[in-house]
Amino acid sequence: MQHAGKPTGNGHNLESPINPLYQRACFITAAVKVDRMPPDQGREVAFAGRSNAGKSSAINTICHRRRLARTSKTPGRTQQVVFFVLDETRRLVDLPGYGYAKVSEAVKLQWQRLMVSYLQQRRSLAGLVVVMDIRHPLTAFDRQMLEWGRRAELELLLLLTKSDKLKRGAARAERERVAKAVTADGRRIRVELFSAQTRLGTEPVHGVLDRWLGVGG
Ligand code: GDP
Repeated sequence: MQHAGKPTGNGHNLESPINPLYQRACFITAAVKVDRMPPDQGREVAFAGRSNAGKSSAINTICHRRRLARTSKTPGRTQQVVFFVLDETRRLVDLPGYGYAKVSEAVKLQWQRLMVSYLQQRRSLAGLVVVMDIRHPLTAFDRQMLEWGRRAELELLLLLTKSDKLKRGAARAERERVAKAVTADGRRIRVELFSAQTRLGTEPVHGVLDRWLGVGG
């Protein structure tokens, strides 16, 4: 078992075993249409997030890789759904970032259509991770993503990333506040603190991904 990260002075527990499956992730394709995506077989988990929330960094951290998903992309590159294979039957999916104020209405509409058709039609989609900057959670875009996820009856996980930017107590309080805010119909959505910098949260996230992807059992 490999351990990544070291404890730091801020009190977070940073020991996180990494399943080698995630480290083997490799890019297979990027698609702008559902019918151009890899065959809808096996299981996949998708990551969504407002642009600059830290989604690419989260994917890289989860896979213990430095440059698997591109960080700090330019807006022009945000329309593709990017697929990474873990093994023959499992994939991680990087959904196009959203929330750029500067994109045109036509581009926004195109993005919406792609998201809705992907989330509703993709049978192999086992769960949706919504990545939010802990300092600006639950934007209109995040709420929209969660609503589409709910409508598609997907398993959901909220990651409050860049948690290293807040003190531990403040981060925990924010997690509670967000968890309460997203509870609907008595259904609690799991919310985890995450940091690509300290690797906080990788262990619980792997637990959820393992379950969704049917890893190890
Ligand atoms: P994306 O657009 O959602 O894919 O966001 P990126 O992963 O490219 O991250 C946007 C910016 O936030 C980059 O400058 C990252 O270095 C920074 N960032 C991402 N995650 C973290 C984190 O956990 N902690 C800190 N301090 N910075 C982060």
